[in-house]
Amino acid sequence: MTSTVFSHHALLSDGWASSVRITISHGSISGIEKGAVSSEGDVVVDFLTPAPGNLHSHAFQRAFSGLTERRGNPVDTFWTWREIMYRCALTIQPDELEVVAAQLYMEMLEAGFTRVGEFHYLHHDTDGRPYGNLAEMAERLIGASVQAGISMTMLPCFYAHGNFGGADPVAGQARFVNSLDSYASLIELTKNAISTVDGGEVGYAPHSLRAVSSEELAAVVGMGSGPIHMHVSEQMKEVSDCISWSGQRPIEWLMANADVDDRWCLIHATHQTEEELAMVLKSGAVVGLCPLTEGNLGDGVFAGQTHIGKGGAFGIGSDSNIRISLAQELSQLEYSQRLQLQNRNVLAGGEGSTGENLFCRAVAGSGQALNGSPALAIGNEASMISFNGKAAPWVNRGTLLDSWIFGMDQGPDRVWARGKVVVAEGRHTDRDRISASFQKVMKTIVARF
Ligand SMILES: [Zn+2]
Repeated sequence: MTSTVFSHHALLSDGWASSVRITISHGSISGIEKGAVSSEGDVVVDFLTPAPGNLHSHAFQRAFSGLTERRGNPVDTFWTWREIMYRCALTIQPDELEVVAAQLYMEMLEAGFTRVGEFHYLHHDTDGRPYGNLAEMAERLIGASVQAGISMTMLPCFYAHGNFGGADPVAGQARFVNSLDSYASLIELTKNAISTVDGGEVGYAPHSLRAVSSEELAAVVGMGSGPIHMHVSEQMKEVSDCISWSGQRPIEWLMANADVDDRWCLIHATHQTEEELAMVLKSGAVVGLCPLTEGNLGDGVFAGQTHIGKGGAFGIGSDSNIRISLAQELSQLEYSQRLQLQNRNVLAGGEGSTGENLFCRAVAGSGQALNGSPALAIGNEASMISFNGKAAPWVNRGTLLDSWIFGMDQGPDRVWARGKVVVAEGRHTDRDRISASFQKVMKTIVARF
């Protein structure tokens, strides 16, 4: 099946171009004509850009977004938040997960993400026993992605321990835990399940240095090709626990004990020395930044000026899914740097637009980390966003992304995921049905809190 889109301005892989006609065949871009004229049957838009992937999500956490913002301890921290997160994780049922995830993925599409990296660790039944189908929960998430129409890179998580040095998992982690054998089976089942879904990819996700031993990490990384995602150096307690265990900081240990390369996506990587930053840059790994979650959880500020300023790869993840906003993730990333450095346009990458630099770099980083191909180029997936210029006629292509990211609520007008229109006039095409199910299920989930 072939369709065509004519855009007055399009952000191609080599920059903005005028009067661009894009041909889409079977979900991919099969033709790009610059300086074209529109033809009958074209969808005509004002501005067209690629759509980045969201490289880090825990879908079930969308169910308690906004419900942990009251102080429950003398000092609330990431670790007290984690207790509440475990309460939700311990009770959510497979059909509830699918409904919550469908709502979440719909919101991601409306925000401009067309692929999700689902870092999935909620594997087993509430008592920790595997479901009859080991991949039951993974299949529910894949089902949700199909309902919403988002492309998925499924990252089944390997989780075996409660802390550094192979400590036993705690009761709240019972649903997460696999042996290496059961994890290998889970990967195979997940690959089978996703093989029938357009654009589906599978990667490997050793949860963190807290949750895997060094032998297990090597085994998981050696299981096959595909992206490797891992939480690392998110919290200072994690850094000090790692030093107590090994004498090294988390990234320092990882770089010394694993062949970290461009297959890897280091989620957060918040707390780093200059030496660690240099090693990450040299490795070619993508840093998975989750600015809204990192702010919400009080993680710390990533050294964006150093890593991004030196050309390091990065992408954006919504992680805890506290709020789904690609624009706000990018502005928060820049603002965290401004607040710390008392400076402006820190991540502009030269004299150009800060928003455009952040956006284009996030597109490239998410493609690398999720095995996607989001840039507008022939052969790539036709995953694109359009913006309606009539909403703000003073905005031109040079100011479009800055206006969206820093200035206005006006978001994507239309979103294509693998060639299919999933958002029109800013609204998901199946929003009514998906959100009605979500509202019903949330009543049950919240009643259990
Ligand atoms: Zn995470």
